[in-house]
Amino acid sequence: MIYKYNNVSQIDFNNEFKNGVIVFGTGNLGILAIESLKQKKIKIICFVDNNKKNQNKKFKNYDVVSPEKLNGSNYKYPILICSLNFRFFKRQLEALNIKNYYDSDFLFNELDLSNVETEWTKDLCKIRLDLYNYAVLSAREKNKLRLNSLDLVLTEKCSLKCKDCSNLMQYYEKPIDEDFDMLMKSIDKFMNSVDFLQEIRIIGGEPFMYKRIDEVIQKILSYTNYKNLVIYTNGTIVPKQEKAKSFQNDKIIFKISNYGEICRKIPQLEKFLSFNNIKFITEDVTRWQDCARIEKFERDLNLTKEIFGNCCVNETLTLLHGKLYLCPYSAHAENLNAIPKTSSDSINLIELNDSVQIKKKIRSLVFEKEYLGACNWCNGRDYNVANVPAALQTKKPLEYKKII
Ligand code: SF4
Ligand code: SF4
Repeated sequence: MIYKYNNVSQIDFNNEFKNGVIVFGTGNLGILAIESLKQKKIKIICFVDNNKKNQNKKFKNYDVVSPEKLNGSNYKYPILICSLNFRFFKRQLEALNIKNYYDSDFLFNELDLSNVETEWTKDLCKIRLDLYNYAVLSAREKNKLRLNSLDLVLTEKCSLKCKDCSNLMQYYEKPIDEDFDMLMKSIDKFMNSVDFLQEIRIIGGEPFMYKRIDEVIQKILSYTNYKNLVIYTNGTIVPKQEKAKSFQNDKIIFKISNYGEICRKIPQLEKFLSFNNIKFITEDVTRWQDCARIEKFERDLNLTKEIFGNCCVNETLTLLHGKLYLCPYSAHAENLNAIPKTSSDSINLIELNDSVQIKKKIRSLVFEKEYLGACNWCNGRDYNVANVPAALQTKKPLEYKKII
């Protein structure tokens, strides 16, 4: 955990914010902003939020207004952006011709957490503040490529067939593994272009369906420019004891999704991990977002941008068959040939050799995209999306219409 960054924006807040500020974002970061501003004795005028369900109501005793309201003369105050979707919020404000907005890194950097009371633990506060400060810094330092995460898909095969799998595994009729050589080459090209990455996530389908997972892990452990290596599993497969050594590293943590009875080997897997001193977290999952449908939505461009801007996985880089995508939906929907290919939605790492060029392309994909072609076919993953029960199984792959 870093939490306090040196490279924060320098703002004379006594001067800039002497008459008060407006806070954009009512999430948990918004709560921490209240605490930070209290410590600085800066008055909050009101909150702004994109979620219509929150507008014209109170948030922690403050009024919540829509972004459009900020155009009125009552709201001529500086605006503090408190969300990981800050890029979209800034675009929204620019479109309203509002320029006096600020990142909150300078504020969070000085937040004294000792007396802060939120539903988060102190450690969780630090992790979230860390992530926010890191994201702001990554966007600001244009000559560096710092990223949050990479999802490394080892296989389309899964030991379960969840009908609402957000990674669209339920649609694969003949799932295949990653080609090992292609995988090695594309990981190399990616890691050699990136300055720093918080997290590499090993996923599938079920990553333990991939026989050479231990070799992939060894390859990843040879890099130094990332922090954590997370292995996601559904608790149906326990690795053989002779493979245990491959997973014994401080950077590695297992995240086990517990969907109940169908994850039949969780106790054995936990025993294997504890016995071998490998870190793990088991998370009970009962609900998912309803985001696995593939259908053409007739939305106007502004709404598509809004859905992308508020999507919780709009920066979830996904490496699949040598191509780098901005989210798992885009990767698999395109791979399944279920949506038209939009060339600017992905980067073909296999075709590129120059790390400077790759770096530039990744930067543009992550930091400049306003929406993906795939978003036109996706139900979205924001606060408006309904929940469905997690991990309901289907016997047969789900049918879908292929694009010719
Ligand atoms: S959500 Fe279900 S189908 Fe999808 S990868 Fe996880 S276990 Fe497999
Ligand atoms: S396609 Fe767009 S809206 Fe759907 S998950 Fe990806 S980024 Fe989010």
